[in-house]
Amino acid sequence: MRGHLRVTGNIMTEKKIETLSGSIGAGLACACPRCGKGKLFDGFLTLRSRCDACGLDYGFADAGDGPAVFIMFLAGAIVVGSALVTEVLYQPPYWVHAMLWLPLILIVTLGPLRPMKGLMIALQYHHKAAESRFGGADEHD
Ligand SMILES: [Zn+2]
Repeated sequence: MRGHLRVTGNIMTEKKIETLSGSIGAGLACACPRCGKGKLFDGFLTLRSRCDACGLDYGFADAGDGPAVFIMFLAGAIVVGSALVTEVLYQPPYWVHAMLWLPLILIVTLGPLRPMKGLMIALQYHHKAAESRFGGADEHD
């Protein structure tokens, strides 16, 4: 006689993000990677000490220079590519380039910085949470 499989209910007591796509969504929204409700930032890029909603300590979060490096590559590719295409197609005067690309540089660098940092932290949290789950729970089913 085989015992019936029981799913323990303690996972359901708190609404948590379990999926990778959920973590990515919360990160891009600059929300807490565990509950998706609390805010991640206090100010432009300053992290809060913990989540307002679920109390998750953000001390684990260390995005480092990762977001900035990603954005530098992306922004560089976007701006240089756009400038080249515009120059080849329209040959505009220099001031048109300045008017176009200086604001674009600000948009493509400052704009994604918060969501990118949020994403990095969310992925970091997701990875650590997965590690601790594999360590603790029995996985056979
Ligand atoms: Zn939270």
